[in-house]
Amino acid sequence: MKPLHARYPFMRAAREAVEAAEIDLATVVQRGGPAVERGLDRVESALEDGTVGEPHRESRVELLSYPIARVLVSIVDEAVLTRSYARAEASSAHDRFTAELASTTQLRSTSADSLTLRELLAEFELLEHVRPESGQLSEADRYRIDVGPYLDLAAGQWGEEWRLVNRPLADGEVPLEESELLVLCRRAVEQRVESGLPLSVPDVIAEPLEEAVARIRETLAEMDLTRDIDTVVPDLFPPCMRALLDQIQQGEHLEHHSRFAITSFLTSIGMSTDEIVELYQVNPGFGEEMTRYQTEHIRGETSPTEYSTPSCATMQSYGDCVNMDDRCERISHPMAYYEDALEDADEDEVTDWRERQES
Ligand code: SF4
Repeated sequence: MKPLHARYPFMRAAREAVEAAEIDLATVVQRGGPAVERGLDRVESALEDGTVGEPHRESRVELLSYPIARVLVSIVDEAVLTRSYARAEASSAHDRFTAELASTTQLRSTSADSLTLRELLAEFELLEHVRPESGQLSEADRYRIDVGPYLDLAAGQWGEEWRLVNRPLADGEVPLEESELLVLCRRAVEQRVESGLPLSVPDVIAEPLEEAVARIRETLAEMDLTRDIDTVVPDLFPPCMRALLDQIQQGEHLEHHSRFAITSFLTSIGMSTDEIVELYQVNPGFGEEMTRYQTEHIRGETSPTEYSTPSCATMQSYGDCVNMDDRCERISHPMAYYEDALEDADEDEVTDWRERQES
């Protein structure tokens, strides 16, 4: 088994490597050990920080942890978990192939164990649909993709720039930067990981995994608690969300990721699209249509996915984590911050913003 398979376990070659090694999954889970632990870690990290966690140093363990994680997700069989897990696998893969392709391009050479853009596109039947603007595929930085695959892969992307009306379509092709092409590949990974889930899991594999399944259900139950929050008290918002809301209300332009973060947060605490539009309306540069489109997209009404609020780790990576306070040290998710703040607040501090608007 090659390290490449361990890094990209959803690839067909990786699955073939597991089959060729005649590994019996039932025996692996009955023995327990590092592959099962790492499989559980993949799923828990997906829920907690939207990644699949740190890879195990042994390629064999890392590769086997992938089918085990898929089995765990299948046994729990909750749509929110399946979606989060597929997105986390795709996100970690995207980080890896983005870094790997950048380094191979710089060196103008590929080692036998590096992924090439050609291989990545071929893996998802995209090779025949993607052409470089000029020169060789591996050396280009701008591409054209046929509109059919574009629409399929761009459908779940956040942001106005992905809408076909905002793209210069010519001869049935859509132009793309390299980074945008890799975002579409991330979506292809997500679709691949999600396909076939939930698997039908025989008892001989499910029984030894009962403890791991219970841990995942516990983590999910904790997340469910946070979803019950439906009180809107801007004074108790986590510092990052307060800062973003202030910027919107002062009419400042927010990057897509920042707007996504605050809008998904407001959606998660139970605000309707109309209420979010009303809260944003103080903004002099307010665009009602845009806010409605974005809110409905996040809510999953106009997109295939219902998005959840980014974790603190994701907020930090985008530079959206600001003004951290003591409570931030104890939590790893802005929703957990808000839940904690509501619990600690005195009754008279907790006046819902909507009630204030009515009075
Ligand atoms: S630590 Fe989390 S909750 Fe606190 S400001 Fe940063 S992202 Fe927001």
